[in-house]
Amino acid sequence: MVKCPKCETEVATPVKTWPIPSRRPSKKGEESKLIVGIFECPSCGVRFRAAVEPKAKVEAAASIKNMVERIKGIRGELMQTLKNLREKIKTLETERSNLMIEIDSLRKVAESRVTALESEVSMMREEVKSLRDLLGYPEEEEQQKQR
Ligand SMILES: [Zn+2]
Repeated sequence: MVKCPKCETEVATPVKTWPIPSRRPSKKGEESKLIVGIFECPSCGVRFRAAVEPKAKVEAAASIKNMVERIKGIRGELMQTLKNLREKIKTLETERSNLMIEIDSLRKVAESRVTALESEVSMMREEVKSLRDLLGYPEEEEQQKQR
């Protein structure tokens, strides 16, 4: 903001601006152009020239700094999200392998039970057959009775 040279009212925005190349050599590759503006006082109506460049430069630098901070913040959040996802994946992988082990052991139990039942059934068949032989019951006759 610049002040009106006559009444000292602060004027926010220039009516017109144009760049002026600086005669001083630029330091550290800094922008060497100055910007001059024509301001009109809203209070007394006087028109005057004033340099607007330094403030704009500070503002631009500040906004770049803000942007960099914001990008850093977003990157930080992304890193956190990635970290959380990696942890979740790790937990899920562990759970999956535990479940696979459990499924495997359950399958083994089921298989051994099937084997046990099969041998029990075949033993019972043998028993029935030997009982029939003992009682003189042919198998065909037994089946006809059931019908
Ligand atoms: Zn004024």
